[in-house]
Amino acid sequence: DRRVTLPRTADAQQVLHRVFGYDTFRGNQQEIIEHVCGGGDALVLMPTGGGKSLCYQIPALVRDGVGVVVSPLIALMQDQVDALLALGVRAGFLNSTQGPDERRAVEAAFLSGELDLLYLAPERLRVESTLRLLERGRIALFAIDEAHCVAQWGHDFRPDYLALSQLHERWPDVPRIALTATATEATHAEIAGRLNLEGARHFVASFDRPNIQYRIAPKDEPRRQLLHLLRTEHPGDAGIVYCLSRNSVDKTAEFLVAQGLTALPYHAGLDAGTRAANQSRFLREDGVIMVATIAFGMGIDKPDVRFVAHLDLPKSVEGYYQETGRAGRDGLPSTAWLAYGLADVVQQRKMIDDSEGDLAHRRRLAQHLDAMLALCETVECRRVQLLNYFGQQGKPCGNCDTCLAPPESWDGTVAAQKVLSTVFRLDRERHQKFGAGQIVDILLGKRTAKVEQFDHHSLTVFGVGTELGEGEWRGVIRQLMAQGLLAVEGNYQTFVLTEASRGVLRGERQVMLRRDPKRQAQGRTRSAR
Ligand code: ADP
Ligand code: ZN
Repeated sequence: DRRVTLPRTADAQQVLHRVFGYDTFRGNQQEIIEHVCGGGDALVLMPTGGGKSLCYQIPALVRDGVGVVVSPLIALMQDQVDALLALGVRAGFLNSTQGPDERRAVEAAFLSGELDLLYLAPERLRVESTLRLLERGRIALFAIDEAHCVAQWGHDFRPDYLALSQLHERWPDVPRIALTATATEATHAEIAGRLNLEGARHFVASFDRPNIQYRIAPKDEPRRQLLHLLRTEHPGDAGIVYCLSRNSVDKTAEFLVAQGLTALPYHAGLDAGTRAANQSRFLREDGVIMVATIAFGMGIDKPDVRFVAHLDLPKSVEGYYQETGRAGRDGLPSTAWLAYGLADVVQQRKMIDDSEGDLAHRRRLAQHLDAMLALCETVECRRVQLLNYFGQQGKPCGNCDTCLAPPESWDGTVAAQKVLSTVFRLDRERHQKFGAGQIVDILLGKRTAKVEQFDHHSLTVFGVGTELGEGEWRGVIRQLMAQGLLAVEGNYQTFVLTEASRGVLRGERQVMLRRDPKRQAQGRTRSAR
């Protein structure tokens, strides 16, 4: 037992040294900790890996009473508590995974003042007996971790979190600190409103993660691209590969294993035992690649994740940033790599159309997707674009793909007109499903069976697009989709024109496009750092 006995007047700095073994605070940790130690409410926005935990753990140790931490990460509570116990901090948790005896022991420790930190699943606070228990003890503070779970906009919205607004009514004098890594202005405001934290001081850390190299590549056999990345830049490294579907997770993991790599799957379709075992191997062994849906990763604190790869387009910049933020917590160079293509755009637009919920909800999803697409198609620094999205400024970073190999932009107005007029002509046969392939074949003047079947070789646009290759045309179509100049519609997911595309066809609007890098240029360009 290496319990640290703290002097009664231990201050934050001493706790940082003696308990956690660190020399200095990071970023605005000190300010936050002093504010909460002094009894103030706080809303903390810090990127993943920024060091949020200390912001409530230290005040919990400095202030009288127990720090109550509300966290949705039930699967990680045991690990978090074990890590604290190893540091000599008296920590416990209450959640649904416990038996009655274990629960009673924790409750007794809480009541007799033998706990510094108590972790609670949010649903516990909807149970009156838990609230009565808390009323019988001394509480130093409430910490609400992953606070974006209270926001409707977040993808992991939890109704349980709504009940947290009552903490303020029952314990008006206990400071509350809400923490999140998800942070647009809108989410911000919603968290503050729903948690009754309007009077809280806001602490916004820089969202920049300079050691992460952001790269977004056009999709072209994504598993092959991924393998190339792993072999050439990350041999033996630990990393996370995100896929949209469970099926694709399984296939990708199998593929990597067949190539001799140590890869494990993780998604909600696997039983709890397998998930726990895979997560634990990822955390404890070196060089394990976790292939996962976004169900994996929240709260995972593995410092040496060297890469995060996305094989499918994330639904929002917030999600993307949170997922990529799991790379490089140790500050060493790491890669965030995303492959995305036309099919991603089509699929996500369809998912939004098919989604339940009202028009406002779908519009919000579409805005999230548009911001993500803008990031993918930008010719500017990715980091500047990311920081701007979070309301922060930056300058070209020299450590992202667009800084290292600036993509050309070109006037694609004529090319766009060619695609759009082809779509216009096919529109008359909208009961047929004509995908991007048919459009490209027509533009290139290919007399395929399907072209002949529908007499498409007699269209005026047949063969007018030989100046570009097939891949380039697909890139044009993808970017037109991304810019809202093309849409897909109906059960057949046929391409259709939009209001905006008419301006292009009439020659009133210029279309700037990004020239996709050639295949061989996709490897890492060493930065000068
Ligand atoms: P977050 O919850 O914001 O994602 P964590 O609280 O898990 O981040 O912290 C990320 C990592 O940084 C952890 O390994 C933590 O121990 C470390 N860390 C946090 N604060 C400091 C500090 N002041 N000095 C050194 N390391 C720190
Ligand atoms: Zn850059």
